[in-house]
Amino acid sequence: MTGAFSLFARNRLALAGGILLTLVVLLALSAPLLPLADPDVTNTSQRFLPPFSEGALLGTDHLGRDLLSRLLWGTRLSLAVGFAAAVIAAGIGAAIGVIAGFYGGRLDNVIMRGVDMLMAFPYILLALAIVAALGPGLLNALIAVAAVNVPFFARNIRGITVGLAHKEFVDAARLAGLSRPQIILTEILPNVLPVIVIAMSTTIGWMILETAGLSFLGLGSQPPQADLGSMLGEARAALISHPHTSVVPGVMILVIVMSINLLGDGIRDALDPRLKSGALSRPMAATRLARSSTPPEQKLPGVLAIEGLETEFHVGQRRLRAVGGVDLAVKPGECLGIIGESGSGKSVTALSVTGLVASPPGVITGGAVRYQGEDLIGAPYSRLRAVRGREIAYIFQDPLATLHPLYRVGDQLIEAIQAHQKVDAKTARARAVALLRDVRIPNPESRIANYPHEMSGGMRQRVGIAMALANDPEVIIADEPTTALDVTVQAQILSLLDDLRRSRDLAIVFITHDFGVVAQLCDRVAVMYAGKVVEEGPTDAVLAAPRHPYTARLIACVPELGGGRRRLEAIPGLPPAVDRLPEGCAFADRCTKTRESCRAGPIPLTQEGARAVRCLYPETQAAREVAE
Ligand code: ADP
Ligand code: MG
Repeated sequence: MTGAFSLFARNRLALAGGILLTLVVLLALSAPLLPLADPDVTNTSQRFLPPFSEGALLGTDHLGRDLLSRLLWGTRLSLAVGFAAAVIAAGIGAAIGVIAGFYGGRLDNVIMRGVDMLMAFPYILLALAIVAALGPGLLNALIAVAAVNVPFFARNIRGITVGLAHKEFVDAARLAGLSRPQIILTEILPNVLPVIVIAMSTTIGWMILETAGLSFLGLGSQPPQADLGSMLGEARAALISHPHTSVVPGVMILVIVMSINLLGDGIRDALDPRLKSGALSRPMAATRLARSSTPPEQKLPGVLAIEGLETEFHVGQRRLRAVGGVDLAVKPGECLGIIGESGSGKSVTALSVTGLVASPPGVITGGAVRYQGEDLIGAPYSRLRAVRGREIAYIFQDPLATLHPLYRVGDQLIEAIQAHQKVDAKTARARAVALLRDVRIPNPESRIANYPHEMSGGMRQRVGIAMALANDPEVIIADEPTTALDVTVQAQILSLLDDLRRSRDLAIVFITHDFGVVAQLCDRVAVMYAGKVVEEGPTDAVLAAPRHPYTARLIACVPELGGGRRRLEAIPGLPPAVDRLPEGCAFADRCTKTRESCRAGPIPLTQEGARAVRCLYPETQAAREVAE
C-alpha cells in the first residue's frame, strides 16, 4: 500500500487534483461554521452586486442572495448528491455484475439482457424519463443519475468476475467446501474491489455533472435550495448582463470535475498492480548504462567474453546488486554451464549480454561484454538490434510466455528469419520447415500451421530452440530451457543442443540449477552465488573435486540414482539479500569453515591452472579424504 501511495504522490497532476478537491470539500463541509449570510434570504435592493462588494465577496444574484454563501452550500449539496449517486450505482451495479458473472448461464443471460436494454436508451433521456416519472426533486434526480449508471458498473464488474470465476483459487475454495455466497465474499469481492473503486473514482465527476444538468433543467433541486446546477440555471437569464452569477457556479463545477478526474486517474494508476513495478515509465529499448570508467582491454579469450559485469536494479532508494562483477567466456563449439540457486543472478547476467534487462529498474554499472572483441555494452541500439537473435540468440525457460498465442508457430519462425535476412516468403517458409525438422519435430510441414497451444510443452520448447537457431547465431544463451520439461524430453533437447554445437560450432551458455544437466552437456561450469562467480573450471574436475564450500554443499544436495541411502545435506540458511550484501564472503553465514578473515573484505577469484575459486580456505583433496 505504501508503494501505491508513493506512486500516487509522484503523479503531480493527481496530487494537485487531490489537494484541490480536499480544499473544496473542506470549504463545503465548513459552510455551517463560516460567518456566511443565509443562502436563501432574498434582498431585492441588493440585486446583482458585483464581486468584491461590501458584505458580498462574490456579489449577489438576481434576488440579492449572497453568492458565496449559495456557492458553498450548493457545492455541499452537489458533492453529496454526486457521491451518493456514485456509491449507489457502484454498489448495485457491482452486485449485479458479480452475481451475473459468477453464476453464469441463464441467470447471467437474463440479467445482462436487461442491462443491455437500459444501455440502449440515450443516457440523459433515460434520466429525464425517470425524473419525469418520479417528479422533480433532488432525491429523484439522485435516483435517476444512479440508475442510469448502474449498467456501466454491472458490465465492467461482470467481465472481471467471469474471468475470476474459473481461476484455480476459486476452484480450490469450492473444493474446500465453501458455499457460493462465501466464495463471492471471500474470493471474488476482494479481487473486484479495486476495480470498483477505480471505476467509481473515474465516474464520480460525470455523476456530479449529470446531477447539475438535471438541476439546470429545473428537475433537480427546487428553489430556493441551491445546488451548482440550479444556480447556473437561474443565472441563465442574466448571462450577458451579469456574467459573474453564472461564472461563479460554472468555475466551481469545472474545478470539482477536473480535480476529481485527475485524482481518479491517479488512483487508477496507483491501484493497478501492473503499473506498480515502474511500468508507468516506458521501459527503454536497451538496459540503461551508467559505467563510471571505460573497461580495460579484453583479457579472456573467446567469442563471447563477459568481464567484470555489474548489473544493478535501482528501486527507489535501494540498490539491488544482482550481478556484482562476473567474468565468463565461451569459445566456439564450447558449452559453458552456469549453475546456482534461484536468485543468484544467472538470468540477469544472461540478459545483460545484449542489454535485455528491463530499464527501469535495471542499470549496468560496470564491466564489458565482448562479442568477437567488440564491447556490446557501449554499443548503439541499432548494433544491439542486429546482434540480438542474429549473432547471439536466446532460449528462454517458458516457451508459452515467449511464443505469441494468437499466431501460428510457422509464422513466428518466418518472422524471426525475416527480421534479420532479406529472403522472400517462400524461402523463409522452407527454412522454417527445415528448422522444425532440425529440432526433430515430426511432420514439420503440417506442424508449421499449429498454434502454440496445439503443441506439447516439449514441442514448444523445441520451437523456441528452432527460433534461436533461425539466423545461424554464433552464440546461444539458454536460460533454464529444460527446467519445465520431463526427463525424456529434456534428454532429447540436450542431445539436440549437443549435436548442434558440434555440427555448427556454436558457443553455448547453458544456465541451469541441475548438476545432472551440466554433467551431460557442459565442458566447463561456473558456479554463481549472490551475483558472483564463486568457482569455475572443467565440469569433470569441478564435479569430482569441488573447491568452494558452496559448490561442495550444492553437489551434496543432489540425490544419486542407485547411490544407496545417504543423508541429503540441505544447506541451512538463505542467500543474502542483494541489497545488503556483506563486505566479505557472501557465503560466510552458511559456511561451516568461516573464519574472521572471511568477513574482512572482498574475496578475490584465485586462478589455479584451469580452475578458479573465490575462497580463502578452499576444500582440498586431503581434507576430503579425512572427512570420508
Ligand atoms: P536467477 O539466478 O534465478 O536467474 P535472477 O538473475 O533472475 O536470478 O535474479 C537475480 C536477482 O535480481 C534476484 O535477487 C532478483 O530478486 C533480482 N531481480 C531480478 N529482476 C529484478 C527486477 N526487475 N527488479 C528488482 N530486482 C530484480
Ligand atoms: Mg533465472
